[in-house]
Amino acid sequence: MAKMRAVQVSRPGGPLEIVERDIPEPGPGQVRIKVQACGICHSDTMTQMGGFPGQQYPRIPGHEVAGVLDALGAGVQGWRPGQRVGVGWNGGYCGYCEQCRRGNFFACQTSTQVTGVTRDGGYADYLVAPASAVAAIPDALSPVDAAPLLCAGVTTFNCLRNSGARPGDLVAVLGLGGLGHLGVQFAARMGFRTVAIARGSDKEALARKLGATHFIESTSQDPASELQKLGGASVILSTVTNAGAMKAAMGGLGVKGTFMVVGVDNALEVSPIQLIVGSQSVKGWYSGLSIDSQDTLAFCAATGVRSMNEVYPLERVKEGYERMLSGKARFRVVLTTGN
Ligand SMILES: [Zn+2]
Ligand SMILES: [Zn+2]
Repeated sequence: MAKMRAVQVSRPGGPLEIVERDIPEPGPGQVRIKVQACGICHSDTMTQMGGFPGQQYPRIPGHEVAGVLDALGAGVQGWRPGQRVGVGWNGGYCGYCEQCRRGNFFACQTSTQVTGVTRDGGYADYLVAPASAVAAIPDALSPVDAAPLLCAGVTTFNCLRNSGARPGDLVAVLGLGGLGHLGVQFAARMGFRTVAIARGSDKEALARKLGATHFIESTSQDPASELQKLGGASVILSTVTNAGAMKAAMGGLGVKGTFMVVGVDNALEVSPIQLIVGSQSVKGWYSGLSIDSQDTLAFCAATGVRSMNEVYPLERVKEGYERMLSGKARFRVVLTTGN
């Protein structure tokens, strides 16, 4: 049987091991993808450290997968071998459970399929995924361009386009890291008056280059009052993982404003009176499905939105993973296979 390189974790908290594995065969309704690039995302720590319900080992991490369709399983329609495709966090859905039938495919009740978490992911030469998890990649994007857009990209793009903000509205992006540097670009290209909120005045030049028309330095300025001076935000897209920073910005919402949360912390303090008086909301957003990823990729191809990446070959996965964990990468780390 033909073999491939893969990076696996054998137990919760275990190291990333480079191993040789059989090339997987796609089952009914599945496709096999030859991987060209795969992003290293902070959520990969769920696989490496354990903690996701029903997690099994060994597991190959990686849910920002870009490559080429290599083989189709029985019954797969609408795709052909040789097409450039990607797979993100959502690893497919059943299509027949109650939530799927209501169109809430992200909340599928019969199968929680998460790429690189409950199924093997993209830190490998090949992976197998349900056809429902596959997104087409446009020619204008290289595999390295496309990979981070399949998680960090779709999360921010899909959140903003579903936030209720309209062109011309004031939209703030809280945090200027892996998600935030994409969020600012998306907000600006969608026609919002875009405010970047970040720590450190050294970030201002980058924020403006990415399309922000305003910059709030959150250690020397109060984000809430600065946003109010601008009229109050229709939407604040919160990409940070610090509830204190979220709370400090939330007061910057305008009337009927929405605070959109895509970054995780344990608990978030909100002011009921503020929400009531301003008729405001706090809302979480699930990243997206394969068609949302495909829309994200097409939008980036058309508008020039790109992730800033640091690239490592698959063999240097440990170094790349450490770089991601350090929080110092500017801004996403991407593995390449050479395929
Ligand atoms: Zn991710
Ligand atoms: Zn379902």
